[in-house]
Amino acid sequence: MADFVIEPPAQASLPVAGRKEAFPVGRVFCIGRNYKWDRDDTAPVEMPPWFMKPANVVVPAQGELPYPPGTEDFCHEVELVVAIGRGGSDIDPAHVEARHIWGYAAGLDLTRRDLQQQAKRAGNPWEAAKAFDHSAPCTPLVPAAVCGHPRQGAIWLSVNGVERQRADLSDLLWPVVELVAMLSRSVALRPGDLVFTGTPSGVGRLQPGDVVSGAVADIGRFSMTVSAHPEAA
Ligand code: MN
Repeated sequence: MADFVIEPPAQASLPVAGRKEAFPVGRVFCIGRNYKWDRDDTAPVEMPPWFMKPANVVVPAQGELPYPPGTEDFCHEVELVVAIGRGGSDIDPAHVEARHIWGYAAGLDLTRRDLQQQAKRAGNPWEAAKAFDHSAPCTPLVPAAVCGHPRQGAIWLSVNGVERQRADLSDLLWPVVELVAMLSRSVALRPGDLVFTGTPSGVGRLQPGDVVSGAVADIGRFSMTVSAHPEAA
């Protein structure tokens, strides 16, 4: 074991439903457009766009949801999250579920939309819009050994009891198996990686004090309250 010049940071992790042991989080891959947002949307021929968040922005989806600094357009995106238990590159789609997926969760790909629009216009990277602290709340992971591999089931999010997003997992343009196989052809996946699989239409703005609730199939359900704006007087 190497000695380090500073104290190594704590391993990022997620709780596992019904277990004492946690799941160690490695990298966080987020898939872009993967549901029909417009009637004309069809599955892209190429790999959908993806970006990353650091592991330490993954937090339990409960309690207070911190309003991030530097934005006036803090947006929700509810997503099915896939946890990779065994890594690999160029994974055969036929082996994705049985060999590589450890479990599933409901997650939020929180976004500073104003910074994302600025980045898109300027051709800049998205990290400022996507990779901020607390930007990836997740429910406890459910092992695939318990929940199987969900192909259908409601994915929804409401704000103050008013529904904003609703779709079905069967609406995914690129299903989980294909997504994981495609990612593994681009980068070698590692145990501990999470894949956020994209969000249905209806993304929208959160305000301080909002109660954000949602669920993904029988996998996870959350309710959080948005904290005060950090730049509020
Ligand atoms: Mn997203």
